[in-house]
Formats: sequence, structure tokens, C-alpha cells
Amino acid sequence: MHKSEHVLLSGLGAEEFAFQNGVQRVDSTYFFVQRRWDQLQEALEEDKVSLDHDGSKKSSSTALNKQDEGKYGTVGCVAMDRYGNLCSGTSTGGLTNKKYGRIGDSPLIGAGTFANNQSCAVSCTGRGEEFIRGTIASDISARMMYLHESAQDATFQVVQKKLKALKGRGGCIVVDATGNVAIEYTTSGMFRAYRDAQGRRVIAIY
Ligand code: ASP
Repeated sequence: MHKSEHVLLSGLGAEEFAFQNGVQRVDSTYFFVQRRWDQLQEALEEDKVSLDHDGSKKSSSTALNKQDEGKYGTVGCVAMDRYGNLCSGTSTGGLTNKKYGRIGDSPLIGAGTFANNQSCAVSCTGRGEEFIRGTIASDISARMMYLHESAQDATFQVVQKKLKALKGRGGCIVVDATGNVAIEYTTSGMFRAYRDAQGRRVIAIY
């Protein structure tokens, strides 16, 4: 953010830039997790099955859908500081068995991640394709700014109406410029927690 005029770098260029700026380099084995490896093998296996003719049993999207149900690893956060500054961050491993070079919604500002001091900060999780198609994160902010909706109403409209209509699976966490929290999801549950300056703490799954 501070060392380049650009907003988004990807692939080799992003790696190179990271190394030039002192980001620690580790061997790929550092990231190995048996459980995730097993998940990938299973997903690969299912894709192989899907290449067979029985589309009714397992389609090529099975791996993605299954991943939607048992997702691991996404960490999203939104925060407002004491001066009313808003920020959002989203960390993800993407989807299991995704195609090489696939870019999800998480790093795309306006799709899975967005913050604007005039409206709200948003961080999303779920199958990124629909979040990209619907520019879900910035749409929540736009509704607040142009339709003067509350964070809760805007988040409800975008997630429960627009995202659902796109058959999107996932949800988002939102905090507005006065510290109101809004959370919506189209899945059966979403791990989430928040706390405010009054000491209110909420932790929930369903
Ligand atoms: N939204 C991410 C993606 O599609 C997945 C996640 O929720 O972590 O890449």
C-alpha cells in the first residue's frame, strides 16, 4: 500500500515485489497441512469421476460445492478506529481444486473486500465467482451512499436478494462509519465474532 502506486499486483510480479520489499521467503513445504492435502486429493478424485459420463452423480462443480459446505481458512475482518476510519481485510486460500491462475473475490476491491470511510467496511467469504459478478462488497457501500440505507438494510438487500439471485453461497461482515455491525450469509452458518467499545462481545456460528 505504501511502496507502490499500484492497487493490485498478481503472480510472479507480486512475488518479486514482495521479495524486493523484504517479505520472508519459505519453502512450499512450510504450508503443508495433511488435512487440506487430503481434501485436495478427494476433490481431484471427484473431478476425475466427473470426467466420466455420469454427470447425474458427480458434476465438475462438486468439488467447489463441497468446499462451500466445509470451508476452512478464510479470515475476514472489518474494523473502525476511534477516529471513525474504516478498514477491511480478507485472507483466503481460495477454493480447493481451483484452476491454475484463478483469482477469487477476496483480493478484488469491491468484490470480496471494500472499505470507505463515508459508508462501511465489508469482508466476504464464499464461492468468489458470484461475489465478483455481483460486486457484492462495493454494492453494500453504494446502497448506503446513494439510497441512504442503513448498513443492516443494505447488507440484507445485497446478500439475501442480489447474491441469492446469483445463486451465491457465502456471506459477509460489515461495520459502518458509526460502528454498527451487520452480518448476513446465505449458507447455513458462518463463523463470526465482534466486539465494540462498550464491551459487547458476540460469537456465533449459526
Ligand atoms: N471467497 C474465496 C474465494 O472464492 C473463498 C473463501 O471464502 O475463502 O476464493
